[in-house]
Amino acid sequence: MTNTESILEDYDIIDAHTHIYPMKISMKASQNIGRFYRLPPRHNGSVDELVTNGKACGVKGFLVCSVATTPEQVQSINDFIAEECALHPEFYGFGTLHPMMEDIGCEIDRIINLGLRGIKLHPDFQRFNVDAPEAYSIYDMVEDRLPILFHIGDDRYDYSHPRRLSKILGDFKHLRAIAAHLGGFKVWDEVKEYLIKPNVWFDTSSTLALLGKEAAKEHMRMLGIDRCFFGTDYPLWDYQREVQNFLTLGLKDDENRRILSGNIKAFLQICQ
Ligand SMILES: [Zn+2]
Repeated sequence: MTNTESILEDYDIIDAHTHIYPMKISMKASQNIGRFYRLPPRHNGSVDELVTNGKACGVKGFLVCSVATTPEQVQSINDFIAEECALHPEFYGFGTLHPMMEDIGCEIDRIINLGLRGIKLHPDFQRFNVDAPEAYSIYDMVEDRLPILFHIGDDRYDYSHPRRLSKILGDFKHLRAIAAHLGGFKVWDEVKEYLIKPNVWFDTSSTLALLGKEAAKEHMRMLGIDRCFFGTDYPLWDYQREVQNFLTLGLKDDENRRILSGNIKAFLQICQ
């Protein structure tokens, strides 16, 4: 048994940031994301490939989501996520919404009735400012009902800047937000200024390879170890390498346990 295998046997792992797509569009969808981030995607975005790769790394649970780039896609994506959650008890599904869709309230009720655990918003793909007036109605309606996983940050756009999320966190004190990518993809220096707040958590997706080990470790300790979740951003990065990158950060054993699964279990009230 190699060192990594024995470490993996020790930990419960939940991947708190993954995207899945129906088989017939998965390759195209993952290539589109890859093009957006100028990173050739390492996986095809299918459910099977996620489960196979995750299980090989000892991952026991997955937060799964998918983003509607137009209002017309919302319902079918939410149905797909719910269907996959019914087939995979280890999936925790987050639904999608679009700020320009009609009758958002009705879709939020449907998301809850489908058993989904939260909402995922990607302001850069969906082209709205996180603090735009049309998005406020979403926050108003979900504040006390569902957490929101936000894609945050990109040095090329301003839609999802940490500054904009900070305003939402102040205006909706009961909202439980997850700021993906440790609070701001490629704008990590600005996270400290805006996102040290009681109602925001973070995930490690698309950060470890870019930030470097020491900086990632320091950044997580600055944010608060209890507020960080492990996530891979499947299908973008090599799955195994993402798990290994995390396990070799040099965090303490109890920090690993909390980030790898303890924190997200408490956040989503998962009993496993
Ligand atoms: Zn995402």
